[in-house]
Amino acid sequence: MSNVEADPVEQAVCSATAAVATEPGCELLRPREVPLGGPQAMRVRRVLPNRDRRMVGAWCFADSYGPAEIADRPGMQVPPHPHTGLQTVSWLVAGEVLHQDSLGRRELIHPGQLPLMTAGAGIAHSEQSPQEHSPVLHGAQLWVALPEHARAMAPAFELHTDLPRHQSRQGSITVIAGELDGAVSPASAHTPLVGAAVSLAPGGQLAVPLTADFEHGVLALSAEITVEGQPVGAGEMVYLGRGRSQVSLSAPASAYALLLGGAPFAEDLVMWWNFVGRSHDDIVDARTTWEREHDTDTPHRRFGPVVDYSGPALPAPPLPNARLKPRGRYNPHH
Ligand code: MN
Repeated sequence: MSNVEADPVEQAVCSATAAVATEPGCELLRPREVPLGGPQAMRVRRVLPNRDRRMVGAWCFADSYGPAEIADRPGMQVPPHPHTGLQTVSWLVAGEVLHQDSLGRRELIHPGQLPLMTAGAGIAHSEQSPQEHSPVLHGAQLWVALPEHARAMAPAFELHTDLPRHQSRQGSITVIAGELDGAVSPASAHTPLVGAAVSLAPGGQLAVPLTADFEHGVLALSAEITVEGQPVGAGEMVYLGRGRSQVSLSAPASAYALLLGGAPFAEDLVMWWNFVGRSHDDIVDARTTWEREHDTDTPHRRFGPVVDYSGPALPAPPLPNARLKPRGRYNPHH
């Protein structure tokens, strides 16, 4: 079941300097480095939201990290923190992460597995490299915005360990979310979208089939990868616009990338800290509740405690002075 062999005929060349996405287009998005979590913060590359391009389909947040040498370090250490209005998708290329949440789930996540956490009205979780861990940590964390009808749903956690996969000598494509070339991910989705992990063999070349109605982006997780003829650095994303039936990827050595796509997200969002809402008041309400609840015994909690975590939860940062404004999927003013 595959249409993933190389297609040497299709060699469109992207311009690295295209400022505005035509449809289909090719727009290079550069990440910024940000510390993740608390005082022992690991640095990650955040490419979504980007200054101009805030979302790709419902994908509203994309961090990638590594490959990082963590043999003698704590690695990822993110204490309990809340989420609302989104799903988190974690993807590991190397290493492992211990997930613990306020539903009582405690799972050690390995490469190739999909932990999908649906925050809905509210959840809390911690993410840590276990005490004994592999020497290299390499992966990504993504958020999917929930649409209005699902954003206040009950929280849930799914762990998928048997995802559909297209395999060829050129590499493999694992379907994380939605459908790709007839293979459907078992992960819950609330808007039309696709997510796939692409692994290229050395010298591999893959033509990945796309849904023309969707907009797409390719997030490079490796340094030497070429998307539609354009070299892309680790942590960078090529935004491809809509109207494409495939995208070509190649690499001289083993390389990894994530394909993200979906129907353009129609609703404006307020994203602040770990919350996705629709208004300033949504965010204030979530923040106030978290600040009241965390590290206390408050009954009937919105977020709930992460019971097995030893140590304090992450306090919310102070709100900005100005009211937070809902924003669309791209910023037309740049
Ligand atoms: Mn989180």
